[in-house]
Amino acid sequence: MTAPAAPRLVHRTAHIRVRVTRWQARRCYGLLRSAGDVWAWLLDSNRLRHQQGERPVTGYQALCRQLTSAGRFGELSVTGARSVLQRYSDAWFHAANRRGQAEKAGFPRRKRGLVPVRFYNGTFMIQGRRVRLPVARGQPALWVRLARPLPYPPEQVRAVTLLAEGGRLWLAVTAAVPIQQHHELDPGRVAGVDLGIIHPYAVVTQDAGLLISGRALRAESWLHRADQQARQTTAARRAPTRGQRGSRRWRRHRARLRRAEAQHRRRVHQAQHEAATQVIAFAVQRRVGTLVIGDPTGITEKDAGRVQNWRLRQWRRTHLVQALRDKAELAGIAVRLVDERGTSSTCPACQQRVSKPTGRRFHCRHCGLEGHRDLVGAANIAAKAGGGPTSVGLPTLVEHRRAGILPARRDRRRHLHDAQRRRRSCLASGHPPDDPASGGCRSPRVPDLTPGEDHATLPNRANVA
Ligand SMILES: [Zn+2]
Repeated sequence: MTAPAAPRLVHRTAHIRVRVTRWQARRCYGLLRSAGDVWAWLLDSNRLRHQQGERPVTGYQALCRQLTSAGRFGELSVTGARSVLQRYSDAWFHAANRRGQAEKAGFPRRKRGLVPVRFYNGTFMIQGRRVRLPVARGQPALWVRLARPLPYPPEQVRAVTLLAEGGRLWLAVTAAVPIQQHHELDPGRVAGVDLGIIHPYAVVTQDAGLLISGRALRAESWLHRADQQARQTTAARRAPTRGQRGSRRWRRHRARLRRAEAQHRRRVHQAQHEAATQVIAFAVQRRVGTLVIGDPTGITEKDAGRVQNWRLRQWRRTHLVQALRDKAELAGIAVRLVDERGTSSTCPACQQRVSKPTGRRFHCRHCGLEGHRDLVGAANIAAKAGGGPTSVGLPTLVEHRRAGILPARRDRRRHLHDAQRRRRSCLASGHPPDDPASGGCRSPRVPDLTPGEDHATLPNRANVA
C-alpha cells in the first residue's frame, strides 16, 4: 500500500451579502465603477487599434503592461484592476476558442457601468466576519462585513469577488475544498435521478426511493409571476416610448423589477441547493457511488403550451443538474448523464411502452405495476446504467423530503398591490376570504396545491405491485 495521496481539491464559490455603512457602500460602488472604467478603457483602446489596422492586445501580460501607462482608476488597486484585465482576457480567448470550433461567440464589446472586482489570496484579509478589501495605495482601509458566517475555513479561501446584483453588494467567496473521502461508497451501486418540476429530484436506488417535494418552489414561482405581472400592469402607462428618455420614476420601477427578479432567483437557487444536499445525504447513507441523471437537454425546444412552456423556463434545470453535480463531486460520487427520452413512459417491470400518465400515478396496463411516475422515471434512468431496483417493480421504501420555504402568509407580495388600489392593505394574520364582492384582500392567487399531490404515493403502501 502506498501512502494516501493528498485529497483532491475542488473550487466552490458562495455568494454572501455584505453589510456596509453608507460610506463603505459608496466606496464599494466606486471600486465597481472604476472596474467598469477599466473595462471600457480596454474596449476603447482595442477598438482604436482595430481602426488603425493593428492587432488587438488580449494577453494578460501584455494588458498589464498597457495598464501601467493608463494611470490610476479611482480607488481601484493594481491587483483589482488586473482582475478586470484577467476577466477580459479570459472572455476574449474563450470566444476565440469557440469561434475556432465554428461555434457562435461574441468577443467582449459591451460596456458596463459596474464590473465585478476579484481579489486573489494575499491581497485581502479575513477576520471572522470582517473582510478587508485592497484599495489603491494611500487610501484608507476598506472593511466590509459579511451578512452570514463564512461557509469555508478561512485558510481554504482563495479569492473574493466584489459584485453588485439586484441593487445589492455581494462578496463571492471562492475556496479550494478537499473532496470528502467516503471510503464506504460503492461505485457499483447506481442510483437513478429523475429531474422534475413537481419533484425537483426523484431518486431510486436498489432498495429505496427518495422524493423531494418542490411545492415551495412552485408556490414561490407563481407568487413571483403574479407580482411581476401586477407591477408591469400598474407601471405600463408610465413606460417611455421608443427613443424617449425614461423618467426617474420609470428607472426606479425597472430597478425594483430587477431586484424582485434577483430575489426570486436566489430563493429558487437556495431551494435547489437544499434539495441537492438532501439527495447527496441520501446517496451517501445508501453507499451509492454513482448517480445517473436523466438529461433534460432539449426539453424546451418543442412547444408544450403557454403555461407549460413558462414552467419549463422557470424550472432552471441547468442549475438543478449543476448543483447536484457539484455536491456529488465534493462527496466523491461519480455522476453520469443519460438520455431521459422514454424513461417516464416505459414500465420498469415489463419494459412495455405505456402512454405517459397525466397525473403523478403511473399504471402499467400490461403487468399491472403501479407507482409514482417520477420514481418510475428514476428507476428507468438507473436501469440505463445497470442500476435500478433489484426487486421486480419499484422500491417499497420511499422517503419524502421538502426543499425551500413556502412563501409566508405575510409575504409582502401577497399584499403589495392592494395598497395601489387605494385600499387598505389587509392584515396578514387575518386573511379575509378571497371574495371579490367583499372588497377584501386581492392577493395574487397561488394555485391550490393539494397536499395529496406531493404524496401521490403513500409512504407505506407505496408501489406495491
Ligand atoms: Zn408493466
